[in-house]
Amino acid sequence: MIKTFSTQIKPSVKAILGGTFNPPHKGHIGAALKAADEIGINLVHLMPCKLAPHKSVGVSETHRVKMIELCAQNNDRLIPELIELTLPSPSYTVKTLRALKEKSDDTICFFIGADSLYNLDKWYEWENLLDYCHLVVMRRDDEQFSPPPAVQAWLDCHVTNDKNVIHVKPAGHVVLTNTPLYSVSSTEIRDVLANAKSAVKAGTPNSSSVSSSNLWLEESVLNYINEHQLYKS
Ligand code: ATP
Repeated sequence: MIKTFSTQIKPSVKAILGGTFNPPHKGHIGAALKAADEIGINLVHLMPCKLAPHKSVGVSETHRVKMIELCAQNNDRLIPELIELTLPSPSYTVKTLRALKEKSDDTICFFIGADSLYNLDKWYEWENLLDYCHLVVMRRDDEQFSPPPAVQAWLDCHVTNDKNVIHVKPAGHVVLTNTPLYSVSSTEIRDVLANAKSAVKAGTPNSSSVSSSNLWLEESVLNYINEHQLYKS
C-alpha cells in the first residue's frame, strides 16, 4: 500500500519592490531591506517596470535589468523579478499582481515609497490593489505623513499596526514602516551624472556632488554606467 501524506505547503511571503530603477540606487535597496527587516522577511525582489520610450532617458530595458542583476549579485537578499517586462505595455501594478497570483499562491508584500503612496489614487484600478497584496510603505522624506484625502480615507480602512499580519493574512492590509530616510532619487543621480560631463567639459567639475551621487550607487552599477556611457547629457 502506498502511504500518502497530507503535505500542505504553506505559501510563503514574497516581498517585491517595483520601480523604474533608472538607475537602481542604495535608497531603493537600503529602504527595502529595512522595511523587510521590520516585517520579518529576508528576501526582496526588485521588479523593473516597462518604460515608455520618452521616459527611458536613452537607457534601454536591458541596461536597467543588468544594473538590477548587478545589485542582486552584490547582495544575497536581493532577487530580480522580471515578470512585468513580459506583460503588455504599459505596466500596471494591479495587472502585474494578478499575473503573479496566477503563477503562485505566495502572499505578496508590495513595497512602495511614501511619495508613491501619495499618488496612489492616480494608479490604474488602485482600489483593487489590496485584493492581491499587502502594501508596505517606506518613508521617503522628513515631512509629516500627509496623503491626499482620497488616499487617507482608503488608508483609514486598511492600515494596520500589526506587522505580523502579512504572515497570517493573504492580502488586504497596509503597513506603514519606520524606515530610515535615504535622501536620494534616480532623477537626482541622473542629473548629477549628466551634468558631471558638461561641468568637467566646462572646466568646472562639481566633484562633491558627483562623488556624493556615486556614493548612492553600488560600485558595480557605477562601473557599468561608466562603461556604457549611460546618462550622459
Ligand atoms: P525617479 O527619480 O526616476 O522617479 P526613484 O528614485 O523615485 O526614481 P523609482 O524606481 O521610481 O525610483 O522608485 C521605485 C520605488 O522605490 C517607489 O515606490 C519609490 O517611492 C521608492 N523609492 C525610491 N527611492 C527611494 C528612497 N530613497 N527611499 C525610499 N523609497 C524609495
